[in-house]
Amino acid sequence: MTRFLMLGCLVLTLAACGARTERAPSGDRDLAGVGGFLKRAFATSSDEKMTSVPGGGLCGDPLLVGEVVGPVDGPGVCGIGQAVSVQSVAGVRLSQKALVECATAQALREWVVGSAKPTLAKTGGGLVELKVAAHYACRTRNHQPGARISEHGKGRAIDISAFRMADGSEITLLKGWRGKSGDKLKAMHAAACGPFGTVLGPKADRHHQDHFHFDVAQHRSGSYCR
Ligand SMILES: [Zn+2]
Repeated sequence: MTRFLMLGCLVLTLAACGARTERAPSGDRDLAGVGGFLKRAFATSSDEKMTSVPGGGLCGDPLLVGEVVGPVDGPGVCGIGQAVSVQSVAGVRLSQKALVECATAQALREWVVGSAKPTLAKTGGGLVELKVAAHYACRTRNHQPGARISEHGKGRAIDISAFRMADGSEITLLKGWRGKSGDKLKAMHAAACGPFGTVLGPKADRHHQDHFHFDVAQHRSGSYCR
């Protein structure tokens, strides 16, 4: 029966990924981040990081807009202790509401403010929407039967497949990574490494040709980024 449940989960969603879930101190991130800290301190003295978004305050963060959902149960080991449904991040809307835990929402906010928005500030009038390819879903990593449950099954992961600009244009991972937007996408991929514990993209494997997988798993050796 459990096996049937697992298989049912598998067919529900897109490509997958995931990692271990232990939380550990992220000291090496902090040590490596002195330069980043200075950059952030200067970059945010007057900009949106200090400004609340109307309706914001989700997870205690003025830049996160959405609703508190509360506990999400199973099946099996799947579920989220305290789930939130995120609608927009620092003024950038999500193409679909993302069911995640607060740590995931906060990591996404850090990446949107610190990388995605500034990287795309001069492209098509600026970033207005992230295309969310997957959020909460009870399934195994990469949909492989018998594999560990993905971080998606715990509300600790989000997949982003495209970026929509104010002028309506769109940059997709599938076309952009090896196209003219490659440099920008690679910069955003690199910058996610830190806010997120696991970052996977087109150079990771065949399962990630068309999206970034971000999750907040903690790894003993620091962030895992491919
Ligand atoms: Zn994923």
